[in-house]
Amino acid sequence: MPDCSIGPFDELPRQKPSIPPASDAIRGGGGARSRAQPNHPRSGFEAALRGALNRCPSCGQTALFARYLKPVDHCEMCLQDWTPQQADDFPAYLSILITGHLLAPVIIALVSHWDVPTWLLMALVLTLAAGTMTALLQPAKGAVIAMQWWLSMHGFARPEPIQDAGPSAAKSE
Ligand SMILES: [Zn+2]
Repeated sequence: MPDCSIGPFDELPRQKPSIPPASDAIRGGGGARSRAQPNHPRSGFEAALRGALNRCPSCGQTALFARYLKPVDHCEMCLQDWTPQQADDFPAYLSILITGHLLAPVIIALVSHWDVPTWLLMALVLTLAAGTMTALLQPAKGAVIAMQWWLSMHGFARPEPIQDAGPSAAKSE
């Protein structure tokens, strides 16, 4: 369950040293996340920027994508598992939104300042739109995956703290 009180640009206290010493934290489990990561992003914006630049959002050292829109299963450097990502159609929505905002002034300028024939206008706009959307799709997906990871959404959820089986657990039986 994502923590909705945390915004995408809030700095999370991930780098704060926990109460037990670091050696215990590494030994204590938690998988790849408990490894020491000196390059951990300081904010969601930094994580999203790394993802948009095809870098591992966690460490920034390796490529996030194995192919155009296929993320790697895990980072070779920090061992972060990227298989829980569920970007789905959101990167495509973002690409279309940005492309529309970039091309709208161009189209308005072409129509209002130059007498461009309709066939040329269509050819220009369709080519520009297809190229811009294709170029923006991978950065958008990288940023979406990074934000899902930063906000601990879907399979990126932090493991629940282990609680002692006290009287409340016995009562629920
Ligand atoms: Zn990494």
